[in-house]
Amino acid sequence: MDNCIFCKIISGEIPSNKVYEDDKILAFYDLSPQAPVHVLIIPKTHICCADELDSENCEIVGYIFSKIPQIAKKLGLENGYRVVNNCKEEGGQSVFHLHFHLLGGKKLTLQMA
Ligand code: 5GP
Ligand code: ZN
Repeated sequence: MDNCIFCKIISGEIPSNKVYEDDKILAFYDLSPQAPVHVLIIPKTHICCADELDSENCEIVGYIFSKIPQIAKKLGLENGYRVVNNCKEEGGQSVFHLHFHLLGGKKLTLQMA
């Protein structure tokens, strides 16, 4: 999609530090990390946000979660990690291409909001 930063990262127009890639998803380091390890995992198809998921397009979410253990292992997150999705403005979403934050590398606090 035009003017989507993450679509441009997928196409290579904007560079990224990749952690994992296959034909369906891409994982890359967040530009401004909020934890010692902070990676974003995105589908290669443009879906705006979690609120746009439905029975037609939700399969990719299961696929992403099926790959998270492998990605986490590669990042050395054997002791655990957090997966976060921010949805739309009040959820704190700033890039409107569905993504999951994979955070870890320290004991995370239970700050919810
Ligand atoms: P959100 O706030 O939408 O949940 O998360 C968007 C994330 O994308 C933020 O953590 C932000 O740091 C990251 N981000 C924004 N632009 C870029 C970029 O061009 N490259 C990378 N690697 N991360 C980005
Ligand atoms: Zn996009």
